[in-house]
Amino acid sequence: MASKRHATNANECTQEKLSKTSIRLEAGVEPFQHVTLKHRRTTLERAEKFLSHIYFADVNLYSRLYQDRVPLSSIHYFGPTKETFSEISEPNHSLREFKVGESFGPTFTRHWFKLEIEIPSEWLGGKVLLNWDADCEGMIYKNGEPVFSLTAADEFGIRKSFTISENLASDEKKLILWISVSCNRLLGEGKQGMINPPDMEKMFSLSKAEIALVDRNAFRTFGDLCILYDMAKSLPDTSQRGLESLYAANEIINVLVKGNYSGESYDAAQILSDKFFKTKNREGQHTVYAMGHCHIDSAWLWRYDETIHKCARSWISTVSLMDKYPDFKFVCSQAQQFQWVKDNYPSIYKKLKHYVKKGRFIPVGGTWVEMDGNLPSGESMIRQFLYGQKFFREEFGLTCGEFWLPDTFGYSANLPQIMNESGISNFLTQKLSWSLINAFPHNTFHWQGIDGSKVLCHFPPGDSYGMMGTPEELLKTMNNHKDKGRSDSSVFLYGFGDGGGGPTEGMVDRLSRMSDCAGLPKVKMSTPDEFFKQARKDESKLCTWVGELFLELHNGTYTTIANIKKFNRQCEVLLHDLELLYTILNIDHNTQYPSNELERLWKLLLLNQFHDVLPGSSIELANDDAVVYYKDIVKTGNELLKSGIAKCSELRKGDNFTVMNGLSWEREEVVELPDKTLKYVCCPALSIGPINAQSHPKAVEIQNREEGGFVLSNGIVQCGLDKGGRIVSLKLANSSKEFIKEKCHANQFVLFDDVPLYWDAWDVMDYHLETRSPLLDVFDPLHVCTDSNALRGGVEFSVRIGANSKLRQVIELDAGSASIKFRTFVDWHENRKFLKVEFPFNIHSPKATYEIQFGHLERPTHQNTSWDSARYEVWAHKWADLSEFNYGVALLNDSKYGYSTFGDTMRLSLLRSTKAPDGNADMGEHQFTYALFPHRGSFQNSGVIRASYQLNNPLRIFESGFVGDAICFVYVSEKSVVLETLKKAEFHRDALLLRSYEAFGGSVAVEFTFNNRSISKVIRCNALEDFVENEVTDVGKCGKSFVVDFSPFQIKSFLVWLQ
Ligand SMILES: [Zn+2]
Repeated sequence: MASKRHATNANECTQEKLSKTSIRLEAGVEPFQHVTLKHRRTTLERAEKFLSHIYFADVNLYSRLYQDRVPLSSIHYFGPTKETFSEISEPNHSLREFKVGESFGPTFTRHWFKLEIEIPSEWLGGKVLLNWDADCEGMIYKNGEPVFSLTAADEFGIRKSFTISENLASDEKKLILWISVSCNRLLGEGKQGMINPPDMEKMFSLSKAEIALVDRNAFRTFGDLCILYDMAKSLPDTSQRGLESLYAANEIINVLVKGNYSGESYDAAQILSDKFFKTKNREGQHTVYAMGHCHIDSAWLWRYDETIHKCARSWISTVSLMDKYPDFKFVCSQAQQFQWVKDNYPSIYKKLKHYVKKGRFIPVGGTWVEMDGNLPSGESMIRQFLYGQKFFREEFGLTCGEFWLPDTFGYSANLPQIMNESGISNFLTQKLSWSLINAFPHNTFHWQGIDGSKVLCHFPPGDSYGMMGTPEELLKTMNNHKDKGRSDSSVFLYGFGDGGGGPTEGMVDRLSRMSDCAGLPKVKMSTPDEFFKQARKDESKLCTWVGELFLELHNGTYTTIANIKKFNRQCEVLLHDLELLYTILNIDHNTQYPSNELERLWKLLLLNQFHDVLPGSSIELANDDAVVYYKDIVKTGNELLKSGIAKCSELRKGDNFTVMNGLSWEREEVVELPDKTLKYVCCPALSIGPINAQSHPKAVEIQNREEGGFVLSNGIVQCGLDKGGRIVSLKLANSSKEFIKEKCHANQFVLFDDVPLYWDAWDVMDYHLETRSPLLDVFDPLHVCTDSNALRGGVEFSVRIGANSKLRQVIELDAGSASIKFRTFVDWHENRKFLKVEFPFNIHSPKATYEIQFGHLERPTHQNTSWDSARYEVWAHKWADLSEFNYGVALLNDSKYGYSTFGDTMRLSLLRSTKAPDGNADMGEHQFTYALFPHRGSFQNSGVIRASYQLNNPLRIFESGFVGDAICFVYVSEKSVVLETLKKAEFHRDALLLRSYEAFGGSVAVEFTFNNRSISKVIRCNALEDFVENEVTDVGKCGKSFVVDFSPFQIKSFLVWLQ
């Protein structure tokens, strides 16, 4: 219902009406034709101002983009609400009138607007847009379906607008549009700073709601001039093409100004720009493989729930671009996001599925989400691929050939093998360009993991996954490519990202215009597959990077949000045990295997491994959502465990209990029963059975030290502690080797100042190490807290951390164990402080060893080079070890990931206190356990790896008596091979899946023996549980075992059919 009209500058009458008395003179010959002088700066700035939406925007070309604009006169509103379109559009639903300038909100709420639009008849045949600015995100519905999205993002002053019609027909003049608005911008609503906690009170205002008639000539020339200006600015002063582009831009401005922006002047401008752009590249010019992309963080500065709408909004706009631009291609990762859109926006899903079939909307990555690349366990990483690829195969009939992790904070050195196991041979990221100290030396290269597996790796040299499609970015991509000469192609990812948005018409237009323009690299609208095929042609010339891709930034993310990391570790163990239990029950008791429920729980765990959730870099609301999912896993998992155990046990009174050993070796250890008594038990590998109490080895003794404190000993280790709980001596029985550095204290808590440069939750800077402050205020000195001369000896102390924070610790030693456990309870209320515990050892080595997924790696303990010193805070999984020949100490943990080792001192990172984006991060109570494991001989042979598993996978005790003999399932003949997973096969329901890896870093032949079961067939499979061709494993003569060879760190999975 258009009413008032705004005449724009562009539409002002160009011909003055002549009065009856006026005359028009002949122009005559121009006496002097002015030629542009060589003033690069003024000419360049002239072009800039001619395009500016800020300067001279009342007379320049920007002001002429629309011929006419009409404000909307009928806007109705309802909100906040979570109603769907069908609910809100009910005829009797009440909506109220809404005016431009009114507000709505607050942050993270959703609202509906109904627009009744009538377009003036004079606009027939024209291109008509809806311009809408509510400074937040919105989805447009037309005829009941979502058709396009709007954001507050702007591209050269042009906001994302909805094209009502490319060519207005008379039956398009009247229409009704609905807009569903979310009160957040692309990158959330941080209060006074992007990464700050959100401003939950913020209100939003509708500042623009209008229809506009596009001046097609002005738009096209504006696009050309943007390219010419950017080329002139980005090419060197000495570049011929740079000067040509500047000259062309200047000429175009002259033509338009002198021709008073007439149709003829735009035609003349077009001839000038066409002439420039038709000058093509030479053969062999660097080629940029341009792919539309839209990085959407599954949760970050917003919650999971909002991401569902972000995906839908971004992808409907992408699909509508595909309708218009036949060459446009788009790459899209994270199966979880596809699943969300499938479940919540079926019409959008149907459209994108159509373009997936055409090979233009291209699923990439092969994982459930873009997970953190450091912290998930090996099995979790396998499941990311298993469930991701399964989804892409079932939905689209394709398997992703590349792993896609452009925004993650470092990459495990075993990822090449995990990728290969998951049907993937190519990898793309760009995040290492964020490293603060060292510039990574390659863009296209081979990456070799700890087992020798290789993948072809590409880092887009533009150092971004969200480019705008400008000449400057194309030139950066070409110039920055460090492997030019070896490989003359690059990936170029364009489209608004992080919070969604995706590519725009302007980006696609510009890139099409620059497809082959001398001075710039060639641009090819492409796919990852096409790029990697091209890159592989040069593979013999490419360099190889061996080991981890360590990001020299964001190293605080190994520690931030401790409870999420603890839940992650616990849930990984719980799901492992559940799968094992139900596999055994399924075979032994014919119990139904809860496949659907296990898959649901796995997917919740995998979702929370997203690269801003597990690292702890999300807002508090998102962290709370993650905890809800973890609690679901824990609650459902424990109920399943209990009901499973009930199948093979019965409730009895008295001291009858059932015990489950989820690990693939026999364990003898002290357990605490539900009635609080301690027993020394022996449990066979992978077994469920009755408690089998053993006569225990030497009891634990606690003796007073002369200087104060105590000595704990059990005939295996002897540990001297001072009054503050600090270790002053640590020895193995029958050895004089002292493990603690002279005059130093191990188990010393230390506090560091932790103020990074910007990325609060993410970064701990190198200078924090200069602020070490030991905690010395022991307000409850060390005292004995258990019976002496028993199965378990324990002492306890408490230390003050700050005015409001304190720490209590119980130090325990069990009979028969070399592990000294430190059960730690912290009440934590600090601000930008970093708590660690340090262990100065009497061990000399230039390297320490850290556990990673399915293996381990070494890192230096010195700072010889900038690459060494940049690794001042590193990550590990369950253990790190410092060894010299014949002796060493391992520091194990049950939920921590941050470590550092300098010289002979190893530190475990415990808690941080960051304030952004979660303003309450880590405040409150924490409980965690770490353990010290001194050893003789190598860490491999002395049992470090097993001890770390045993700390994390405690024997599970159930309050019911087991019926019958213990069920022991599989026996593994070699200590160096860990049976990591035993579950029902995913696709062959009559088979078991058995996954093992070689953990010592050596070659070995190993025999897997099934107890009381005969094997009918064994076939090796990959992580996706596809058969590995020609690898049918021989079943031994007895029919109960099979033997296979493992090379160092090799992961092998088998499908096993039992008789
Ligand atoms: Zn991201």
